[in-house]
Amino acid sequence: MCQTCTKKPVIALHSGEQLCKKCFIAYFDRKVRKTIRVHDLIDKGDTIAVAVSGGKDSLTLLDLLHAIFTNNKSVSLFALLINEGIVGYRDDCVEHTKKFCAERNIPLHIFSYEQEFGFALDTVVKGRKPCSVCGVLRRNLLNTKARDLGATKLATGHNLDDEAQSILMNQFRSNMETSARLGPLTGVKDREGFIRRIKPLYFMTEKEVMTYAFLKNITDDFRECPYNKDSYRNQVREMLNKFEDLYPGTKHSVVQSFMEILPALKEKYKGDVPIKSCKKCGEPTSRDICQKCVVLDQIRSS
Ligand code: SF4
Ligand code: ZN
Ligand code: ZN
Repeated sequence: MCQTCTKKPVIALHSGEQLCKKCFIAYFDRKVRKTIRVHDLIDKGDTIAVAVSGGKDSLTLLDLLHAIFTNNKSVSLFALLINEGIVGYRDDCVEHTKKFCAERNIPLHIFSYEQEFGFALDTVVKGRKPCSVCGVLRRNLLNTKARDLGATKLATGHNLDDEAQSILMNQFRSNMETSARLGPLTGVKDREGFIRRIKPLYFMTEKEVMTYAFLKNITDDFRECPYNKDSYRNQVREMLNKFEDLYPGTKHSVVQSFMEILPALKEKYKGDVPIKSCKKCGEPTSRDICQKCVVLDQIRSS
């Protein structure tokens, strides 16, 4: 039975604690609000661009931020959706997101690879790693569009599972400089051209987000991108899930221990990255030509 009120439980947390629907929703809300507060994710005067894909994580995030800030005149938000062009997957997500935002009166801006780069992801993945192409292009569009639409922060639906995977992936590849850019709040204040990113669902597990999205009728479509199954990330995800089954709390331990060393990592790598303007597109980058332009050149010359 629910540990708080003795009703029928809907979920067991990693600690073993069981909660009913009402107590779980209250627990989830409380924990996300605490993450925002303790990690100073949102300030007065912020305009938040919420990156939405139409999946459970991003719509849960949008629903919560909308509920938290709907009566707060000092913070505004809008949704930003990038349509990569993945037939049979993203098309459905776009329609669901349009309906979701219309019902809540949330402004929604949609951009597509087709419109911006002249091709759909499906048409350029042959012989390439889809996520490497997609990740670079999406990151670029989210940053430039959020910035050009006047946002001061970009909120993403990354959850605790995503972060634990990223930490391990960087560790396995000896990529600590990339890890220094993880955490619930990333980026540097007033760095020209770059929007700071926030992850309010940082301490919520994928299972918790899925349960919340289902219980609150946010979505009951938990399909994943068809390209995800072959990715390195997915292999790490499956390994972590196996470990979590055997040793509950593993994912929390990965993230908690990482949070302890994150300030030292940020200190070590701070200011190491010189910011230049890409010689091709003028966007901020640490190299002469930004990653987006490198990827686009490879695609266009093949
Ligand atoms: Fe893009 Fe890979 Fe994410 Fe699919 S799983 S949307 S291909 S980054
Ligand atoms: Zn209860
Ligand atoms: Zn460029």
